[in-house]
Amino acid sequence: MKGIQDGVAIVTGGGSGIGRQSSIRFAEEGAKVVVSDIDDDGGNETVEMIEADGGEATFVRTDVTDVDEVHELVQTAIAEYGGLDFAHNNAGIADEGTRLAEYDDAQWDRMIDVNLTGVWRCMKAEILEMVERGGGAIVNTSSVAGVSANGSAHYTASKHGVIGLTRRATVDYADDGIRFNAVCPGVIDTPMVQQAGEDNTEEMDRITAGIPIGRLGDPREIADTVVWLCSEESSYVMGQPIVVDGGLLAQ
Ligand code: NAD
Repeated sequence: MKGIQDGVAIVTGGGSGIGRQSSIRFAEEGAKVVVSDIDDDGGNETVEMIEADGGEATFVRTDVTDVDEVHELVQTAIAEYGGLDFAHNNAGIADEGTRLAEYDDAQWDRMIDVNLTGVWRCMKAEILEMVERGGGAIVNTSSVAGVSANGSAHYTASKHGVIGLTRRATVDYADDGIRFNAVCPGVIDTPMVQQAGEDNTEEMDRITAGIPIGRLGDPREIADTVVWLCSEESSYVMGQPIVVDGGLLAQ
C-alpha cells in the first residue's frame, strides 16, 4: 500500500466543511489532491489554502449526480498526477428534519441521488482506476445517521446505504488491494450545521447539550480519521463504519 506522502487523493465536496479539511490534511501529509465540488469558489479557495501552505492541489468542478463529470474527475487525477490512490467520497446534502410521510418523491430522489448514488458513481470510477493501479483506499462519508435514527428518514436511509456500499465493496475488491471504510461524523461545526443553527439557536443548544463531550466536532477531527483510514496505520481496518461523535451514540 502506498504511503499518503506518495499518493494522489480525490475529495468530493472539498469546497467546504469536512471535505475542505480532509483535502488540507491529505496535502499536509504530502499527497497531491484533486479537490472537487459544485461550488467553484469554495473549491478554488481550498486549493489556495493548500498552495499557501506549500501543498499541491487542483480543483475540478464535479457534480456527483453527473456520471460524466465524475468520470472526468478521475481522469483529471490521472492526467495531472499520474493516477489515483485515495478517495474521500464526501459530497452530501442535509435533511430538513421533516417526518417521513411529509417529503415528496422529488425530495427523496434528490437526497438518494446526491448522498447515496453519488457515492456509488464515484466509487465505480475510482475502483476501475485503483484495480488498474494495484490498490488504494476509499473512505465514504456516512453519518451517525448511518447507524442510528439521528436524521430524517431519507437522510438516514441514504447514510445507511453508504455503509452497505462500503461493506460490499470491501468483499468484492479485497483481492485487488483496495480498502474501503466509512466515517460516521456526529454533529460537526461546518456550514451545513451552522446554517441549521442560525435557523434555530434553541434547537442547536439542545443538540450540543446532548453530546457527552459538550461541544460540536471540529471538521479537522473527521479529516484526521479519514486520512488515518487511508494510511498504512489502518491496514487491517476494512469495511467499517467508524463513528466520530464526541460520545453521542455511546448513550
Ligand atoms: P458542507 O455543506 O459544509 O459541505 C458539503 C459540500 O458538498 C459543499 O461544498 C457542497 O457544495 C458540496 N456538494 C453538495 N452537493 C453536491 C453535489 N451534488 N456534487 C458535488 N458536491 C456537492 O457540509 P459538511 O458538514 O462538510 O458535510 C460533508 C459530508 O458530511 C456530507 O456528506 C454530510 O452529510 C456529512 N455529515 C456531516 C455532518 C455534520 O454535522 N456536519 C454529520 C454527519 C455527516
